Parts: sequence; C-alpha cells; structure tokens
Amino acid sequence: MRIAVVRETRPGETRVALVPDLVTKLTALGHEVGVEPGAGERAGFADELYAEAGAGLVDQPLPGADVVVGVNPLDPDGLRQLREGAITVSFLPVSTSLDLVAELRDLRVTALSMELVPRISRAQSMDALSSQALVSGYRCAIVAAGLLRRFFPLNMTAAGTVQPAQVVVLGAGVAGLQAIATAKRLGAVVQAYDVRAAAAEEIRSVGAKAIDLQLETLEGTGGYAREMDEDRAARQKEALAPYIARADALITTAAVPGRRAPLLVTREMVEAMAPGSVVVDLASETGGNVEGSVPGKVVRIGHAQVWGGDNVPSQMPGPASSLYAQNVVNLLALMTHEGEVVLDLDDEVVAGACVTHAGEILHGASREAVEGPAETTPVVTPGAPGEALPPEDQLDPADPSEEQQ
Ligand code: NAD
Repeated sequence: MRIAVVRETRPGETRVALVPDLVTKLTALGHEVGVEPGAGERAGFADELYAEAGAGLVDQPLPGADVVVGVNPLDPDGLRQLREGAITVSFLPVSTSLDLVAELRDLRVTALSMELVPRISRAQSMDALSSQALVSGYRCAIVAAGLLRRFFPLNMTAAGTVQPAQVVVLGAGVAGLQAIATAKRLGAVVQAYDVRAAAAEEIRSVGAKAIDLQLETLEGTGGYAREMDEDRAARQKEALAPYIARADALITTAAVPGRRAPLLVTREMVEAMAPGSVVVDLASETGGNVEGSVPGKVVRIGHAQVWGGDNVPSQMPGPASSLYAQNVVNLLALMTHEGEVVLDLDDEVVAGACVTHAGEILHGASREAVEGPAETTPVVTPGAPGEALPPEDQLDPADPSEEQQ
C-alpha cells in the first residue's frame, strides 16, 4: 500500500513521523513509501536520506495515499485531499479536537490516534505517549541544569567543596522518572513526589528520595492518578511548600488523563524559593502545575526563573522522531496482512486506537461528545405494552402505577 509521510504544518513542530532508517521496515512489509519533500528537514533528516533508503519523494503525497503517517493530525486542507477510506495515523487528542473528529467521520477517513493505543504489555512498542514523555523528561532535567547558575554535582576540590544542587520533581510518571534519572546522573540530590502509591518505589528505583507528605494516595483507573479535590490540593500544597522553598531546581510533570494539569505550586510557593532558583513546568501547555508559568517562555516569579514547556519533544526532534517513528512502524506492522494495512477491530490495540471508520465515530467518548448520548432502549411497563417509563427522577413515589418493576 502507499504510505505517505507528510511535512508537519503545526507551528513549532519539528518532528517527522518516519525516519530514513525505518523506511525499509515498511518496504519489507510490501508497502511503498512516499515522502513529502522537506518532511524530515527540521528533525535533521534530509530528503536524500529517505530516497537512499528506498522512499519516493512526492510533492503531493496525500491524494494517492492509502495510509498517511504524521505527528499531528492533518490540517483541513490536507484532510480534504484524502480519498474515502484512507487511513491516518497520528497523535489525535480527541477531547480537544471534536470538530476534526466529526470531519474525519464525514470524509469517511479511518483515523487512528497514537494517544489511544492501549497501554498493555503487547502494545508497549507502540506507546508513543511514553516515548515522547521520555524525551520530555530528559529535556526538563537538562533545561533545569542549563538555567541553574550552579553545579548539579558535588565537587570536592583543592579550593573547597561545592555542594550539589537540590532538585525536587513533582509527578513521577514516565517523564518525571526520566527527569529524576537524568538529574541524578548529573549528580544532583533529587527528591520526588507523586500521588500514586506505586510511585514511591519507582522513585527510589531511579535513585531519588521519595517525599512522604503523609497524605492519602490518589489512584484512578488503569494505573493513573485521580484528580484532587480542593481540600486534598490545599493540604498537598501546604505540605510541599518547605520542600520547594529549599529546592534549587523544581521540575513539575504531573498530569491526570483527560483533565487540565493539576495546579500543585502557587506563585507564593515559588516566591519563597532562593535567589537563582529555577522552575521547569512540563505541564505548562496543558494548564500548568505552577501558577504563572507560560508555555514556551521563561518568566520571573520572585527570585526564580520559571520555564514553561511547549511541545517539548520538538526540542529534541531527531531522537523524538526516531522513537515516534518506531511506534508508528510497529503499529503498521501489527496491522499489515499480506502487504495490506487492514483494520482488524477484533484486535484490542487497533480497536482502542481507532477513532473514526467508514463514516462512524468508533471512539465512545468522542461519539457521545459529537453526536450526543446513545439512545437507550425504552423500559416497558407490564401494564402498558410498548410504553416507556418517564425518567426515574420524574416518577411520583406516591403513585404506585408509576413504580418501576
Ligand atoms: P501522566 O503523564 O498521566 O501523569 C504524570 C504523573 O503525574 C503520574 O505519575 C501521576 O500519578 C502524577 N500526578 C497526577 N496528579 C498529581 C498530583 N496532584 N501530585 C503529584 N503527582 C501527580 O502519567 P504517565 O507518565 O503517562 O504514567 C502514568 C502511569 O501509567 C504510571 O503508573 C506508569 O507507570 C504507567 N504506564 C504504563 C505503561 C504500560 O503499561 N505500557 C506505559 C506507560 C506508563
């Protein structure tokens, strides 16, 4: 099948969905690869490298494509060039892209979202959230080290001893653990906090001290965190304040799936940090863990420089693209049968990732958000065949004829 690799159009995006090294993985499966000229340029992959690997360079790759791979969803112009039944594979944040989901449905495009690939062991090699979080976490630690005007490691010299930097990391998921491990490797003293019960052991396993705030843990479904209520959030802030005040660098990576990032650190808490301290807020573009952080900017709050993350994987486009491309190629390999990319909805990985297909929205939450709640089967009373009961909250408890059986 013809697989198109597009040049990304989102402002600031530097990644590409396929790297030259992986072209042969797709051609070996029987596919043709067409790359839009310049697609890999910003990630450091020249057109010639794709051509040498066996890809074609195609000025208008979309109209003839069976499958389109991208980092971000196609823009509306690109979408309308697709043939009916074409498959797109990209990040597709459905909760914030409902108009796009409706358009994909109407154009009868089969859209797969890399965010929705289930995080089960069999699909680990396709987990693009993790691969990109790994890049972001590493980058956060490097940014913190770069902004801080002091050493991360302990230095014992003839001229005296230089104490190591104190780093605090909030949120110890994939990005947070990578930030911890990187800061540790650079020699900092690292402490970290996460609301999940399993996190303390994970924090210790990468060499940091787990901060114990003596608060209840917050487990949601699927190993993710749950949102805090106001009281829990206030107690967490109060308990964290002294740790943050003592930190030279604070790195925040906390997230709750499908929600705005939790606000963990107030402006007042940052103002209590010492002169020269640094805050790196990876969650800045999803609402911010730190009050006042601005995506893509370094702002000053009190004595601290506060760095707000904005499409952080794009700051390391080469490795971020290589890892993402590997995730995409693994998904396409799973879907390829006898040289064809086939949508097998009996496979939970494919079904989980599929947002639209054949004019329908298959992703339940998106369908409900776009099309409204599914019609429910009417409840029938024995006395009145075919007649639906009014909703329960409209039943008059005093009227026995309206009692639900
Ligand atoms: P995420 O990006 O959704 O969140 C980042 C971290 O923020 C999480 O660890 C979360 O617990 C934490 N957090 C949320 N609210 C917080 C608060 N108020 N204070 C402090 N921390 C808070 O998480 P993620 O990196 O996607 O990983 C989430 C979980 O999924 C982890 O348990 C991870 O091990 C697991 N995971 C599993 C697989 C797999 O099985 N294939 C792959 C990746 C991640």
